[in-house]
Amino acid sequence: MATAVIPKVFKNYINGEWVESRSNKAFENRNPANTDELIGMFPSATEEDVNAAVDAAKEAYNRWRLIPAPKRAEILFRAAEMLLERKEDLARDMTSEMGKILVETRGDVQEAIDMTYYMAGEGRRQFGQTTPSELRDKFAMSVRQPIGVCAMITPWNFPMAIPSWKIMPALICGNTVVFKPASDTPLSAYNLVQVLAEAGVPRGVVNILTGGGREVGAPLMSHPDVSLVSFTGSTEVGRRVSEACAPSFKHCQLEMGGKNIIIVMDDANLDLAIDGAIWGGFGTTGQRCTAASRVTVHKKVYKEFVERFAARAKSLKVGDGLDPTTEMGPCINESQLQTVMEYVQIGINEGAKLVAGGHRLESGPYARGWFHEPTIFADCDPKMRIAQEEIFGPVVCVIPCNDLEHALEVANDVVYGLSASIYTRDVNKAFQAMRDIYTGIVYVNAPTIGAETHLPFGGTKQTGNGHREAGVAAIDFYSEWKTLYVDFSDRLQRAQIDTSSFARPQD
Ligand code: NAD
Repeated sequence: MATAVIPKVFKNYINGEWVESRSNKAFENRNPANTDELIGMFPSATEEDVNAAVDAAKEAYNRWRLIPAPKRAEILFRAAEMLLERKEDLARDMTSEMGKILVETRGDVQEAIDMTYYMAGEGRRQFGQTTPSELRDKFAMSVRQPIGVCAMITPWNFPMAIPSWKIMPALICGNTVVFKPASDTPLSAYNLVQVLAEAGVPRGVVNILTGGGREVGAPLMSHPDVSLVSFTGSTEVGRRVSEACAPSFKHCQLEMGGKNIIIVMDDANLDLAIDGAIWGGFGTTGQRCTAASRVTVHKKVYKEFVERFAARAKSLKVGDGLDPTTEMGPCINESQLQTVMEYVQIGINEGAKLVAGGHRLESGPYARGWFHEPTIFADCDPKMRIAQEEIFGPVVCVIPCNDLEHALEVANDVVYGLSASIYTRDVNKAFQAMRDIYTGIVYVNAPTIGAETHLPFGGTKQTGNGHREAGVAAIDFYSEWKTLYVDFSDRLQRAQIDTSSFARPQD
């Protein structure tokens, strides 16, 4: 049912101006906790808009790359200060458009703040190497150079944090940006770009286009003037991004799906492990790439763990994320809720034991939203589809294990490799897990979520393509090495050939 209030109408930002889409079409952004609430209308951009944004970014690149990095940093620093000042409003906007609870959306904005400060600091670093040359009267060093126009394609589950992981390092390295956010969370993307514009990012340096993956994302990632694509989203779409980038060898960073695991050993602090499994499994309604969607528990503590974990899940308060007492919000949209419900049925058909939840919530306060109960399947076989495939919702599979070796085998036996964790008080077991789990992130005595902005973030296998976001790893992705040799001998010197020209010490 449409609201009677005139909706707020948003625009694309191209070459320093807020402009209508050439399609003159717009799409609705509604609150997933109450679909009667229309957050706003956002432009459905077209390929023509993509071309205009890339042209603007290409032209701006020639100026932006020449601005000294410490000066670019001043703009980022101002943006970080503004994000901090506006944090509460930005978090509320985010909860309204994507449903996760306020403490989490504050955390999402905080991540963007942290990343922006961090990358502002990189304005005075971006260190290269200066080394001795093998030849006399020759100087050798390496410097970082920017790459060009960067396309950013992002998902809805971290609507401000993920774009900031991409945009801030790209900018500090001297690149320009065309940003296409997910259509479920365009407001938070708009808010981030608004802050960058107000902080003084020159025209054309950051551009935003909203609209569908096929209509905007696809022409953007294959545009000949785009030199780099950074994508976070599903493995299925990531594969297409990789294929689109291959013919022209665009730099391409892919952060994709996960099927993360918590290992609970028999010597674990069970209270802590259950806290971790609740937060890891049901935080952001299980819609995190790092969500703990599998828990494998040592057989000696299995029964107790399952009973207590299920009891805690059943007691979680589900509702509107703006209500401070809510512990878990809705799914992002109807199709995500349908996926969750389909997987619950798959789990039942596969013979897993449903010990908590399992149903959509649709009466009373839930009537106008995409709510689902926190759901736990116990006695799962690690080969079941619910234990192998990414569900991206509030569904956790519990798998019994015999010992650490068995747990590690289960942990590594999925196609993804983002995050994993182990609860144990045995330092030997902790170190063995840190060494033998093949993921990009491992936690000890903490859940699978909780990444910090100054360390590499990303995954192995079908989660990523070898690059990492955040920290110095991001600087590595958004810059390229250039090696500089300066010969001040005033004669032709040939590396690898003129080695005999050096006098030996005794000569
Ligand atoms: P998605 O793949 O459906 O969409 C991601 C982005 O790609 C969106 O902006 C979408 O519009 C765009 N897109 C869709 N089809 C496209 C196409 N054909 N061409 C170009 N762009 C296209 O993912 P989602 O549903 O938004 O997000 C959920 C997924 O993201 C999950 O799989 C989750 O694991 C993953 N994710 C991964 C990380 C990570 O760091 N590894 C972080 C967050 C989310």
